[in-house]
Amino acid sequence: MISFPELQPSARVLLGPGPSNVHPRVMKAMLSPVVGHLDPDFVRVMEDIKKLLRIVFQTDNEITFPVSGTGSAGMETALANLIEDDDEVIVGVNGAFGERLADAAHRLGAKVCRVDAEWGRIVEPDRLEAALRQARRPKLLAVVQAETSTGVYQPVEELGVMAHRYGALVLMDAVTSLGCVPVEIDRWQIDACYSCSQKGIGAPPGLAPVTFSERAMQTIRARKRKCRSWYFDLSMIERYWGPDRLYHHTAPISMNYAIYEALRIIVEEGLEARFKRHAANAAALQAGIVAMGLELAAQPGHRLPQLAAVRVPDGIDDARLRGELLRTFNLEIGAGLGPLKGKIWRIGLMGESSRRENVMLVLNALEAALSAQGMEIARGAALMAADKTYNNAR
Ligand SMILES: *Cc1c(COP(=O)(O)O)cnc(C)c1O
Repeated sequence: MISFPELQPSARVLLGPGPSNVHPRVMKAMLSPVVGHLDPDFVRVMEDIKKLLRIVFQTDNEITFPVSGTGSAGMETALANLIEDDDEVIVGVNGAFGERLADAAHRLGAKVCRVDAEWGRIVEPDRLEAALRQARRPKLLAVVQAETSTGVYQPVEELGVMAHRYGALVLMDAVTSLGCVPVEIDRWQIDACYSCSQKGIGAPPGLAPVTFSERAMQTIRARKRKCRSWYFDLSMIERYWGPDRLYHHTAPISMNYAIYEALRIIVEEGLEARFKRHAANAAALQAGIVAMGLELAAQPGHRLPQLAAVRVPDGIDDARLRGELLRTFNLEIGAGLGPLKGKIWRIGLMGESSRRENVMLVLNALEAALSAQGMEIARGAALMAADKTYNNAR
């Protein structure tokens, strides 16, 4: 008989673009008994998850819950429900996740108008406005708040008011932003937003929190034709997550326990404290990176605190260095995507992973691995610069 080994994955320090490290309390929550998806105990958890998500999304939106699936399932839910055939959809594209939005919108029958910007730079809001002005009847403006492929932090505060002036709705990808930086759905008048469980929230991958404004729901309820996706049809899912409790699909029970506990941890910490923690660790990491003689790749003034894009120096073997970090330091950082493959590393400090000891570990590990490949580095400079940043911030 063939035998298969027991699972033995290493407990890594996850400093890539996601997943990030999971708090032990979240892992423990996942061991809770699996009950039926309409069990009164589970229904209570569902109601609390909706309340917790409204706190984290900073919204009063009734329609706020986790879709079963990863972040991309949240994206499909938003697009499939908002788009009808030949709707004009304007998409800001300055990285892999803007590309993904444009691709998905096109597949769902939209007439996609791309507003492209160089990878590593923001999409200028003026250019988004010009596209809204030029469209005949713009239905939707879609942007990525935190472009994880480049480390760019897109300004989004004004987009809601701007899009509404042209009669369009706004959809925002907050997959890498929720739980790391402010996501203020109501104040910014964002009509639809999706995120994931495994980056800033700090649970394993598997759920996609979404929220829809009343304006978005009116548009969805007035659809001429049914949503093109059966699985992601909000009119049916909302009857399971709402008071009807009508079976649609079996909710992933243990994943919902996980996100419940992860959200509880966020609310205990407090959003402001959490954003401050991400900013402080980012400042220290970035100071260390620069002190080491490396370059940050994203546009100055628009760099994400939760994800630093770092240029791979000339003469350094990208894959070998990442392999070395994994073997010697048990540490994962991310590679570049698409046109940035081999050109940048992506160092994430998201959720549970955003910790001072992780900043020190990754700086130390990079110094060692770069020196081993022959780069001349003043050993200790990065750690000193990071330390100084923390001490000055006190
Ligand atoms: C990770 C990510 C996604 C995709 O999420 P999955 O959970 O991998 O499906 C979408 N958008 C952004 C900005 C991301 O960082």
